[in-house]
Amino acid sequence: MKKTLLITSSLALLSIMSHASEHEKHWDYAQNGPTHWQEFSKTCGEGHAQSPINIVPGKTVQVNPKYKLHLHEDVHTTADVIDNGHSIQVTPKVGGTVDFNGEVFHLTQFHFHGKSEHTINGKRYDLVAHLVHQNPKTKQLAVIAVFFEEGKNNPILDNILGNIGQTIKVDPQDILPADTAHYYHYVGSLTTPPCSENVQWYLLKTPMTASKEQIEAFRKYYVDNERPVQKLFDRPVEAL
Ligand SMILES: [Zn+2]
Repeated sequence: MKKTLLITSSLALLSIMSHASEHEKHWDYAQNGPTHWQEFSKTCGEGHAQSPINIVPGKTVQVNPKYKLHLHEDVHTTADVIDNGHSIQVTPKVGGTVDFNGEVFHLTQFHFHGKSEHTINGKRYDLVAHLVHQNPKTKQLAVIAVFFEEGKNNPILDNILGNIGQTIKVDPQDILPADTAHYYHYVGSLTTPPCSENVQWYLLKTPMTASKEQIEAFRKYYVDNERPVQKLFDRPVEAL
């Protein structure tokens, strides 16, 4: 009896130890890349409402008027710029807001991926900004994606990339295109572990530009930090 107890407790200890070492492993875009993310969170492998996705413009439906997006991002604020190990992230002291369906979401941070994660008819943009908003009451997230294509220099990118580890003055509206009335909308997930679902995604159709030098400058930090596109399953994709 005693022996059984001893074996059981050593087994329990072993399992705790192996669990501990498992948690020291960190997700990334290399050996512990997207095909391994389910080891960090089951939702990444088993969820049926994952992001990013490929958008097929010919297969979209009209945006439900209730989910029409209203942006109020014009806020002059200071923001901390950090390299968080997965991206360059900007955290404003005071964020702007977006609202839809009678609910208000506050900008908590925005960050970049070295190529767009969502694709449009299979096309990947040169860079993307994800503006992450949260509803303080329900904790639900809403992410606005702004695509960038190679073109004119973009002053806000110089301000961010030239000041990593610093605090900058920023107006998050400067990262948005002039036309914010046209977008794709669907319900997906975080594109990094824990891949939590019920995220409202708004992908602005009009891209911004960044110079070749700016795209290269960002990719010196992160070149392949995008998750492959996920299955759509039966989710509708809306367009306006
Ligand atoms: Zn992102």
